[in-house]
Amino acid sequence: MDTNCIFCRIIRGEIPVSKLYEDSQVIAILDINPIRPGHTLLIPKKHYASLSELTPAEQVTWLQPLDKLSRAIVRGTGSEGFNLLLNNGRCAGQVVPHLHIHIIPRKNDDEVSFHWNPRPYPPGLIEKTLNQISNHLVR
Ligand code: AMP
Ligand code: ZN
Repeated sequence: MDTNCIFCRIIRGEIPVSKLYEDSQVIAILDINPIRPGHTLLIPKKHYASLSELTPAEQVTWLQPLDKLSRAIVRGTGSEGFNLLLNNGRCAGQVVPHLHIHIIPRKNDDEVSFHWNPRPYPPGLIEKTLNQISNHLVR
């Protein structure tokens, strides 16, 4: 537990939230500033800043409620699909340094835009990138 962390304070019940789900490992709350109504944060109760701090077993268990949550969020908001978003690190837009994943309900023509900027690889770079990453994969 981190005394100053806003999500740890929420987990300790010190800050009122709209709690959708709770079990021994995680809570799910409605994001106070939603991209669309129903935007939910699934948060492990232990304070981890990033995904790589979880044990392999915890990496599986904290995402276990994801399917039932996302189905309820889609049905409950009359949506048609959803995005999962995990901002890992400040450079990736992580503002609260306590691991969480966003579940964002989506509808056709909902006019939500994420401003990604995908482009094809220039010649040779896809092979080089594949090698660079593969060298760091723990076998
Ligand atoms: P991130 O940029 O991935 O760190 O996202 C943090 C999210 O936490 C933002 O979408 C905020 O709107 C949300 N948030 C911050 N404080 C609260 C709060 N007290 N209750 C619910 N959501 C919050
Ligand atoms: Zn925390």
